[in-house]
Amino acid sequence: MLHGNLPVRYLGVPLVTRKLTGKDCTALGVIRDVEKLCMRFFWIGSDSSARGARVSWKQILVGEGSLWIAWVNAYCFRSVDFWHADYRAHFNWILAKMFKLRSEASRLFCSIRNWTQINASWIWDNIRCRGEKVSWHRLVWFPGHIPKFSLISWMAILDRLPTKDRLARFGIAVDSGCGLCRSGFESRDHIFSDCAFAMGVWHTILNACGLSQEPLCWNDLVCWLLLNLKGKSLLVHILKLAWSGSFTSSGRSVTTCSSEVRLVRSKPL
Ligand SMILES: [Zn+2]
Repeated sequence: MLHGNLPVRYLGVPLVTRKLTGKDCTALGVIRDVEKLCMRFFWIGSDSSARGARVSWKQILVGEGSLWIAWVNAYCFRSVDFWHADYRAHFNWILAKMFKLRSEASRLFCSIRNWTQINASWIWDNIRCRGEKVSWHRLVWFPGHIPKFSLISWMAILDRLPTKDRLARFGIAVDSGCGLCRSGFESRDHIFSDCAFAMGVWHTILNACGLSQEPLCWNDLVCWLLLNLKGKSLLVHILKLAWSGSFTSSGRSVTTCSSEVRLVRSKPL
């Protein structure tokens, strides 16, 4: 029978009641040395020192772009590329979205020879519908504009606000009276140029800026603004903000009306 020696060792470390010393743990150092050799081989392909020769992740993933792309290439498109692969149930939602857009994307990218030109700006320019620049764009979108004001004035110029005349055209039964002056028929032209209340607000602003203006219909008012609100002066900037802001205050009755309509429509018939 083979007899061992005390102390008994477990994984190379002596099982003793006293505190372990560095000498007792020498065996563990061997494991660390083996790991070091493995790491050196992984980084530089030999067991000599890897100091100063480490390869960065960026370099390791060159051609892949990111760890995620490397993973996708390794596990999802191992034998077939993205354009010819079949959709699999285990693909995540990003890949599912990409597969839905594959036919559209293939039309976009089929003629690409230089892939370095592809970026978000290039894609946006190639998928959006370009229209002619409208004459009134600088009244709505200008440096320092307030998005909420600009959005409402943009909808007003396009006559897309839910004014009562439009709601009536859609077959929604609402009273047609102007919520601001109680005397006119609520339409875009009325509440933003003909309404006594709205014009009172606008003319008060003009007077505060030392200006005056004859009462104008909607189209003439827009023409006046295009003609007079040019340049980058402080006065022009204030008047543009005030004009687009007056849409928000005048349009409040429109918003209130539309929310009432939504409430009525949400109730069961
Ligand atoms: Zn009115």
